[in-house]
Amino acid sequence: MNLENVISPTNVAILGASNRKGSVSNAVTLNILRSGFTGKVYPVNPSSDEVLGLKCYESILDIKNVIDLAVIITPSRVVPQVMEECGKKGVKGAVIISAGFKESGEEGKLLEEQVASIAKRYDVRLIGPNCVGIINTSPNISLNASFTKGMPRHGNIALVSQSGAICGAMLEYAKVKNIGFSKVFSLGNKADVNENDILEMLADDASTKVILMYIEDLVDGRRFIEIASDITGEKEEKKPILAMKVGESPVGAKAIVSHTGALAGSEEAYNAIFAQAGVLKVETLEELFDYAIAFAHQPIPVGEGTVVVSNAGGPAVIVADAAARYDLKLARLDESTISKLVNTLPKTASLINPIDIIGDADHIRYENTLRVALKDPNVNSCIVVVTPPVMLNVQAVAEAMTRINKEFPEKTILSSIMGLTGYEDALKILDENKIPQYAFPESAVRTLAAMQMYGSWVRRPRTGIRLFDVNREIVRNVFSKVRQEGRNYVYETEAMHVLEAYGFPVPKSMIAISEDECAKVAEGIGYPVVLKISSPDIVHKVDVGGVELNLRNAQEVREAFRRIMQNVKHKMANARIIGINVQEFLKNGKETIIGMKRDKQFGPLLMFGLGGIYVGIFKDVSFRLAPIKELSAYNMIESTKASKLLSGVRGEKPSDINSIVECLQRLSQLVTDFPEIQELDVNPLLVFEQEKGCKAVDARIVIS
Ligand code: ADP
Ligand code: MG
Repeated sequence: MNLENVISPTNVAILGASNRKGSVSNAVTLNILRSGFTGKVYPVNPSSDEVLGLKCYESILDIKNVIDLAVIITPSRVVPQVMEECGKKGVKGAVIISAGFKESGEEGKLLEEQVASIAKRYDVRLIGPNCVGIINTSPNISLNASFTKGMPRHGNIALVSQSGAICGAMLEYAKVKNIGFSKVFSLGNKADVNENDILEMLADDASTKVILMYIEDLVDGRRFIEIASDITGEKEEKKPILAMKVGESPVGAKAIVSHTGALAGSEEAYNAIFAQAGVLKVETLEELFDYAIAFAHQPIPVGEGTVVVSNAGGPAVIVADAAARYDLKLARLDESTISKLVNTLPKTASLINPIDIIGDADHIRYENTLRVALKDPNVNSCIVVVTPPVMLNVQAVAEAMTRINKEFPEKTILSSIMGLTGYEDALKILDENKIPQYAFPESAVRTLAAMQMYGSWVRRPRTGIRLFDVNREIVRNVFSKVRQEGRNYVYETEAMHVLEAYGFPVPKSMIAISEDECAKVAEGIGYPVVLKISSPDIVHKVDVGGVELNLRNAQEVREAFRRIMQNVKHKMANARIIGINVQEFLKNGKETIIGMKRDKQFGPLLMFGLGGIYVGIFKDVSFRLAPIKELSAYNMIESTKASKLLSGVRGEKPSDINSIVECLQRLSQLVTDFPEIQELDVNPLLVFEQEKGCKAVDARIVIS
């Protein structure tokens, strides 16, 4: 339902308005009155006749005019009654600032539920309770219905914060940094309106260009991905979303048998959600604002390729290092650009990007160099680094940047005048001309890298969710047998059948129960083979000496059989033994792992990583929520270090990444089709050279 009335009301009632200095309700009332609100304000409080010079009503029902928004700051225990009256009055939205609800314990939780259900009954959209309030800086509304300090500067950034205290602190910080906001929402306990509702509204809000979020938890990850990816990548007017996520939701205490289960925590789930939504995750508030200013004031780079212009070698090196660290793509300058620069710059200048125009550079040299560099078709953005020697007119450099900024409106320009004081005039010019300035060049690099990343998200190829022809019947039968036997652990052989039914390539294999039979089966499969113990009681076969690899003839098979039986007897005397799994031995495969853990809150979380026995040590893994699109599967692989290994190092042939992508998509379909699958590991998934595919040689599944 529409939140427009909540954030852009004409008439506002303040329930619990108060004259008492120092109280929250007094602060909110003052803020509303002083913010220059363009509508009418109606204080309501049965114990006053007048609040801050305005007539005060005993009940909202006594007001004759229509009320769009009720701001509630009464004690929590009277909120249900107040809400009931708001409902009867027909208000469209309410912001409950009062605390004393869910956050305060069981009683408060019940009170909150009661209030929410009253609001629902009357179709009132509810923000809070236990929040700081909302702000709309638009000149034709100008409403500060919160208890933050004063009205923020008007701008094009929307702020959505779950924490009230952080919301207030961010607004204070922004004030110092001259950052302007379009709208501010403090969400509090999210009894009704949550981040997804706010995002839906901001998607089409013309006054908002960038969205900042401070998130403690998401109510619905799947919906968040849908709404946010629409905003960041699909809408006509795309908007970057920058999010800071704090706090960890508790991890389920259930026993975990898979690697995926052990590695897939709540942080991984959130990272997956942000990646799939095109949301840029930041780690600190400083980073959040560094990015926000740039996104709000400069264009998104239309391609990769940054040029750095500096007047000293040291900072140029810092920038080059930071570029490697944050993955900022520096531009390779065109031959013609370089020859133009050769003609104008001193001999000692360094023309390899980062360009060092050396210490005696004046503003004219800066301007000329920038003009030549930005004309280069390989350059889409630039960072101007200035270490100010006394003779440099920094203000003139700032003016030069301003001219360049106007000349190249489609190219991104960030400034790094290195120094904290003494350049106020220059900084003022940059601020007025919307050129973001960073005292440290690393911050500029990190910011621009984030902008490049967002640019590539916007330009990314669009793919869909692939569905394969699979055999659900087989899987259903396997699972019902597992259940009938009172288990939730699916035996390895059964798990392999499940994978096969979903089109995973698996090695030739067969269970044998005696030494003779093993030799016979091996003959049929063809040497070399692998023997593996098959037991419902043995989860990690290598650990008990239950795997023998690369057996080349009947003799070796027989010896291996005896060794395995002996090892198992020795290490797990009571293990029930089904037999020995004879498998074709696969050469030259790289070990990867793919898996899934069903997250309590968000559902199936897929994992990809470097597999084998070191998976738990290196933790080189990535996650996405299923179902995944084809591109997500590629990105899962791309975002691990293993991807470098798979793309071929030191003359090695590249691995068949496409076949992993396909397996990930098949896995996505499997875990979507069968919600009873709680945990699943394919470890290893052996991947061969390009065009030669991959094979799942070991699997583990737990169902509910
Ligand atoms: P575990 O229960 O110990 O995980 P696996 O079946 O995964 O047992 O086997 C352990 C290791 O042996 C694998 O990680 C892989 O390196 C190797 N391996 C297993 N099966 C094969 C096979 N068919 N071909 C080649 N190597 C294999
Ligand atoms: Mg294994």
